[in-house]
Amino acid sequence: MIKLLDQYTIDKIAAGEVIERPGSVIKELVENSIDAGATAITIEIKEGGMSFIRITDNGCGISKEEVPVAFLRHATSKLQTADDLLKIASLGFRGEALSSIAAVAQVELITKQEDALTGTRYQIHGGKEISNEEIGAPLGTTIVVRNLFYNTPARKKFMKAPATEGSYIYDLVCRMAMSHPDVSFKFIMNGTDKLFTSGNGRLKEIIYHIYGRDITNNLLEIHAANDQVKITGYLAKPSISRGNRSFEDYYVNQRYIKSNILTKAIEDAYRTFVMVHKFPFTVINFEIDPSLIDVNIHPAKRELKFINEPDMYDFTYISVRKALLFKELIPTVTPGK
Ligand code: ADP
Ligand code: MG
Repeated sequence: MIKLLDQYTIDKIAAGEVIERPGSVIKELVENSIDAGATAITIEIKEGGMSFIRITDNGCGISKEEVPVAFLRHATSKLQTADDLLKIASLGFRGEALSSIAAVAQVELITKQEDALTGTRYQIHGGKEISNEEIGAPLGTTIVVRNLFYNTPARKKFMKAPATEGSYIYDLVCRMAMSHPDVSFKFIMNGTDKLFTSGNGRLKEIIYHIYGRDITNNLLEIHAANDQVKITGYLAKPSISRGNRSFEDYYVNQRYIKSNILTKAIEDAYRTFVMVHKFPFTVINFEIDPSLIDVNIHPAKRELKFINEPDMYDFTYISVRKALLFKELIPTVTPGK
């Protein structure tokens, strides 16, 4: 017999696509904080995020009336019409994160908007509302996610060791911090401070915090623009090349994504400088008119399509090449050698 699935089951299925592991929760919640205009975000996890995740921001908050709505599937304040999909300027837009997380965990949200007299505390466990009450709260939003996948044991079984999930989350928070130098990030794992960025806008300082002196002393600045895209950030000199691709970071409109075109353009530009099986270290942001990209091709928004791929390849290749050549062609002759 064919019948429509109930909302609870639909949410659980959808949650599987958006929320694969604790890191997915962190990614979605931090994106929400950034979209809410937060300038300071604190991320706390325990046991690799499986038992406890808390994200605190000083963003715009959610009104009392809209809190339950925010947890409905496809509920978003970021798209008003289908046309908005053609020019997405926020990190979120699918309206799936809160409903998905709430479907597979025990969620507590405390939020207050600037001119509201009181805040709201809302609890939802496995998609079912537990409580909704007024409460005194500071401006902004705090979300606590407990016991992820407690009601989907099959998914829970596939989680890696807490230390593995924890280091995946650390990498993710670092990327969030590097792609948003204007936002202050604090990351606390099992009670220990792991990362703090000041939010003063200086990317190089964040790279120093994360990677240390050796890399920071060997950075080249990249700065290029044409009428469609602006490229900014840092590249390490080829001598600093790494054994795998995990140091090849780039962001499109401050979103960490993977794109074959960009990876190829960057690696091709480095080709004659680095040895085979060595990969560049980069932290580059591409600022591009949202109407020239499509980010709506993957539920977790990990991939993206450029309307004009050949142009994107050429401009990236040329810009990286120029940044490298500028320094590398001028031999650094040490006297006496
Ligand atoms: P999306 O981000 O795709 O809109 P979400 O399910 O992640 O969908 O969030 C639903 C809505 O809840 C958002 O559109 C936003 O209006 C609100 N919201 C979520 N998190 C926050 C937050 N930290 N601060 C303010 N508003 C938030
Ligand atoms: Mg979101």
